[in-house]
Amino acid sequence: MSGMTSAGKTTYPSIRFKSSAARRSAGRPPGAPSAAGAPNANRRFVAMVLDRLRTVSGPVEPRREDPIVCLIGTILSQATNDRLAERACRELRKRFPTWKKVMDAPCEEVEKAVEMCGLAKQKAAAIQSALRYIRRTRGALRLDDLKRPDLDPDRAMADLCRIEGVGVKTAAVTLMFGCGADLCAVDTHLLRILRRLEIVPPKASADRAFRILRPLVPTGKAVELHLQLIRFGRTTCRAVRPKCGSCPLLGICPWRGKISAAGAV
Ligand code: SF4
Repeated sequence: MSGMTSAGKTTYPSIRFKSSAARRSAGRPPGAPSAAGAPNANRRFVAMVLDRLRTVSGPVEPRREDPIVCLIGTILSQATNDRLAERACRELRKRFPTWKKVMDAPCEEVEKAVEMCGLAKQKAAAIQSALRYIRRTRGALRLDDLKRPDLDPDRAMADLCRIEGVGVKTAAVTLMFGCGADLCAVDTHLLRILRRLEIVPPKASADRAFRILRPLVPTGKAVELHLQLIRFGRTTCRAVRPKCGSCPLLGICPWRGKISAAGAV
């Protein structure tokens, strides 16, 4: 997997912004991240974004779940909406009351249980492979060893990413909401916003954006940032027709499209 050494340690390659980003810097609003990606400027910018969203939209309530429930739920949520993923998760638990039964069931039965959320074949295989991995590495279907206050998130990410079908986002979400890790997973909402705010380059992948963002987030605020940005992406900085005219970040947002978007509001 990209970003992992043979020793299983997650690596974070140095980040270089493309020269086109430097050209876009002319006329950049005050407080926007520098085109060269100066780490301090970007840390301040990310802190400012979080402050503004918190002030305007209020606090967020992080949920806590069992890490296995969180891992399976996140696998089910890939490429679908939360409502369908939750329905599929409930159906899975109804048909197979224990994780052992899910693991031991014929793959086609697991596929049938989760088919309403799409990609059933891949998701069923990933779920069973995750459960087998957990039992093989822990001797039981539990991930309680990851719920430690002194958890090393890099080692834990590398551990979960060894599961076939589990990538950086799924591992990060599991550690955030299942284990209390100070991480900010990057989903499609976050990726769009981070690109528009030029915190990451315009063509950065979600995994690269996660690596770029990670050192820029104020300590202890990563989960809050994740939740604030998801809410912001659903309500304001939407993929289509973002509400730039009423956006609390309008004055610091460097996205060129915001002018026409604001005019359209
Ligand atoms: S101004 Fe528009 S594009 Fe920029 S952050 Fe706000 S909603 Fe998103």
